[in-house]
Amino acid sequence: MKKDDCIFCRIANGEIPSNTVYEDEDFRCILDLSPAAKGHTLVIPKEHFQDALNADDEVLSKIFKVAAKVGEGMKKALNADGINIVQNNGEAAGQTVPHLHVHVIPRYNGDEKMVTWTQHESDSEEQKRIAEKIAAMI
Ligand code: 5GP
Ligand code: ZN
Repeated sequence: MKKDDCIFCRIANGEIPSNTVYEDEDFRCILDLSPAAKGHTLVIPKEHFQDALNADDEVLSKIFKVAAKVGEGMKKALNADGINIVQNNGEAAGQTVPHLHVHVIPRYNGDEKMVTWTQHESDSEEQKRIAEKIAAMI
């Protein structure tokens, strides 16, 4: 289903023009308007899902394959040394557009760090408790 007031629904379905690098029946892959690096691409499903946690299994099973395909082409076309595949769910996680999408970003040896976090020490007892708590909900 498409959502009329959703910008990514409108882009993915071709109502708003975009720089498309790949398109199939289910996805449109477009250049990000404010790229982290030249070639930064968004893989956008044509159907509306708020995020990965709300998407159906079929879209989820396909989206990573499309991202990898785009990454492969991007690596060759732009001589990238590596590719980040990044996906944000919810405002707290950095999602700004509430329509599922995956970022595919070309990376070069020595370029600025982009996907990064501070690593903390872990406590083995606490780790065990957390793992059990999550496992019980899956
Ligand atoms: P998020 O922060 O939700 O993971 O990523 C949203 C991305 O969409 C951002 O990188 C932003 O630059 C990009 N973006 C937002 N609006 C538009 C648009 O209208 N066109 C394109 N091509 N990219 C957009
Ligand atoms: Zn949408």
